[in-house]
Amino acid sequence: ATFEDLNLSDELKKGVYMSGYTRPSKIQAHALPLLLRNPPEHLIAQAQTGTGKTATFCLALLSRLDYTDPSTQAIVVAPSRELARQIFDVMKTLARFTAATITQIVPHVVRTSDKITGHIIIGTPGKLGDMIKRTMTLAQRSRVKMLVLDEADFMLDLQGLGNQSLQIKKLLPDSIQLIFFSATWDDTVDKFAHRFITGPSNQIR
Ligand code: AMP
Repeated sequence: ATFEDLNLSDELKKGVYMSGYTRPSKIQAHALPLLLRNPPEHLIAQAQTGTGKTATFCLALLSRLDYTDPSTQAIVVAPSRELARQIFDVMKTLARFTAATITQIVPHVVRTSDKITGHIIIGTPGKLGDMIKRTMTLAQRSRVKMLVLDEADFMLDLQGLGNQSLQIKKLLPDSIQLIFFSATWDDTVDKFAHRFITGPSNQIR
């Protein structure tokens, strides 16, 4: 496959080439067509760091944004601030030629009363939950159409992050497209995946 086959906008393709990618990785070639189906379908995927999994969901989100609407439309949940930063950097580079606005939540931002804005908001579970509850009205929440859980296995290793992630889902519309990524797989991760996504989903393992 090539990036020309993936139905990306010219602006996104420029971001892809700008990032130095010449061909889609295996997970990108496999998952992107599934993630871009209409109507949207959920995805449960096992992918390790180094496979290009971050760009997979970044490109899906950036492709699906309604650029005529400044509302927050996608939320990415990461288990650590460092990982959130890495996702933010990949997203920013890919989005360079688009009109997407991307925000990473850091503790300082949540403490202020400033309204958090951005088409795509990236953060850790506690900060994101707090932000949604404190600053987003029901009307604003209803505009969110994609929710990504990255390194879900790592959430389970850290006290409470798994439950906080499930809480975030409950604050958002039932119709949201859910994307679940885990590097490792065992019964506990599998159970978590199916608590996060209760309906039918595409699976990549
Ligand atoms: P990840 O699996 O998301 O941790 O990404 C691992 C590394 O691969 C990152 O440095 C990405 O920038 C890079 N990468 C992602 N997709 C591609 C691609 N299609 N071609 C080359 N490098 C890529």
